[in-house]
Amino acid sequence: MPRDTRNPNNLPTKTCPVCGRDFVWRKKWERDWDRVKYCSKACSKSAKQAPIAKS
Ligand SMILES: [Zn+2]
Repeated sequence: MPRDTRNPNNLPTKTCPVCGRDFVWRKKWERDWDRVKYCSKACSKSAKQAPIAKS
């Protein structure tokens, strides 16, 4: 039952709470995936500066 048809490699995805975009598992996160919340360092940084920044 594939539920994510956009993801042919069947990698896990999360939604970044800062920019609202989905991002896909990356090799560099293989040890940290459970702790990854943001799609990028930039989003992580802005989340710390402004926890809820909706445009
Ligand atoms: Zn983001």
